Amino acid sequence: MFIWGVFPVCLLLACTEPPKAQAELVLGTICSINLYEQGSPQIYETLFSRLREIDLTMSATKADTAVDRINQNAGIHPVPVPLDLMEVLEQALRYAALSKGAFDPTIGPLVQCWAIGSEHPRIPEALEIEETLSLVNWQDVVIDREAATVFLRRSGMALDLGAIAKGYAADEMAEILQKAGIKGAIIDLGGNIFAYGTKQQGKPWNIGIQNPLNTRGAYLGILTVQHKSIVTSGVYERYAEIDGKRYHHILSTQDGYPVSNGLLSVTIIADRSIDADALSTTAFALGYEKGRALVESIDHAEAIFIFEDKRIHGTPDALAWFTLQDSQFSLTH
Ligand code: ADP
Ligand code: MG
Repeated sequence: MFIWGVFPVCLLLACTEPPKAQAELVLGTICSINLYEQGSPQIYETLFSRLREIDLTMSATKADTAVDRINQNAGIHPVPVPLDLMEVLEQALRYAALSKGAFDPTIGPLVQCWAIGSEHPRIPEALEIEETLSLVNWQDVVIDREAATVFLRRSGMALDLGAIAKGYAADEMAEILQKAGIKGAIIDLGGNIFAYGTKQQGKPWNIGIQNPLNTRGAYLGILTVQHKSIVTSGVYERYAEIDGKRYHHILSTQDGYPVSNGLLSVTIIADRSIDADALSTTAFALGYEKGRALVESIDHAEAIFIFEDKRIHGTPDALAWFTLQDSQFSLTH
């Protein structure tokens, strides 16, 4: 009797409680946003419809996105593009210039050639890699701000914004939340995280850092932060196993192969997610010394570098926010 009396009340409560989190497959990954007690169906719809819109503009794999149209018309003619894509591309070219092309948004042909993360990954022949690499050059992207067009100079070139678009999208989410007066949220776009605002009672967020040697969900430490984006690029994020060997998805614009420099992952903690996303890939591609120097030259950006030999190096603020929980790893400045 008692149980039956309580049951409908619970159901009613479940119905009237605001939705706590929402997740959706968009931007080629699982995107989940949690507004806790401030969530409502309306705000989630505003957030996710903006994510879908960004996907339909910036995806390099979907047909008829602005990026796809730029790629289809490479070497033919400039293509009109929306302002948001222009902004992302300008930031991408900024990181390309800063890294002397280690980060390159025209990596598309090389990404397609390896097809890592797709159903049919492959190891291309050396000659094919060499020919494909000749199509990768950020200096052949022509942006006309006044005409709002983008042109790739040579036929066969292709943009791929996979290393930066999720960061931009997370910043867009943060802006929507700011306008709506939301105090705290976790925005997780396939591991591209924005720990927005604070937890209840103004407490900071605790964000786990993946152990790059372990299965997904195993943390090696925790970052305690307020209103920061945290983005990791690593060998475990997306990879293909071919003939018993792992090939991950961050490609060297020097030799066309997955970057191999002793790093397992680079985590960036930054105020803007577009910087965190672009910088994590860039610093990983540049390697520790140059990567760290670049991060230190960017305002409001910190980094944690994890090496194959289980050393962890970080910038001072990053280490101040970090608690190591796995004694296999050792921490140094
Ligand atoms: P994730 O996709 O896991 O968030 P990253 O932000 O590091 O990881 O982006 C990796 C993606 O960026 C690759 O899947 C590919 O699409 C693209 N990419 C690979 N190598 C480079 C590079 N050298 N410069 C720019 N983009 C790259
Ligand atoms: Mg990135």
